[in-house]
Amino acid sequence: MKGMMGKLYVENESNTLQDGSLIDLCGATLLWRTPAGLRHTPTLKQLESLRQELNAARPQCPVGFNTLAFPSLAQREIVDKKQPWVYVNCGHVHGYHNWGYRKEKGPAVPGGTAPASTGERECPMCRRVGPYVPLWLGCEGGLYLDAGPPTHAFCPCGHVCSEKTVVGWSQIPLPHGTHAFHAACPFCGTWLTGEQGHIKLIFQGPVD
Ligand SMILES: [Zn+2]
Ligand SMILES: [Zn+2]
Repeated sequence: MKGMMGKLYVENESNTLQDGSLIDLCGATLLWRTPAGLRHTPTLKQLESLRQELNAARPQCPVGFNTLAFPSLAQREIVDKKQPWVYVNCGHVHGYHNWGYRKEKGPAVPGGTAPASTGERECPMCRRVGPYVPLWLGCEGGLYLDAGPPTHAFCPCGHVCSEKTVVGWSQIPLPHGTHAFHAACPFCGTWLTGEQGHIKLIFQGPVD
């Protein structure tokens, strides 16, 4: 670290751009991908089939027993009724529900279309308290580090991708302000929180 910013980015010091190198361009950070590196990233078609595989497993809300489904990759911003939600401190996946607020100020918007809400919530499965956010599949294949199954999510934004991708990005400090460095979600730029910056998702399959 001692004044050499490049050392924060690459473990083995090198001036050569490698796949995954980050370039700091006056505050904007660019991700350098080589053709060989990009061969390991999923195409949009692969992402779509990963999404369909996830939904084919028919994940369920362990409390409401309703079946959850990740919305199409084209759908962003608007939270779907069947959208999976997660308690980011434990990884338990649920359907949207209004109860469990620890503070009274949490908004309760009917119809399950509330934005990532304020206020801490208590997970009904393990009682850990933390933010409760909708899950979104990361849509940009070029930001994936492999084409593994989307089993993990960034905290606190809820972007879902492969384990290798969350672990990799959680270890990359990006410039934050003029002096600080912090890991961020590559899909939305949210600064990561929690012990690791990501969580393994715990889905409940259909009870049979
Ligand atoms: Zn939990
Ligand atoms: Zn994100």
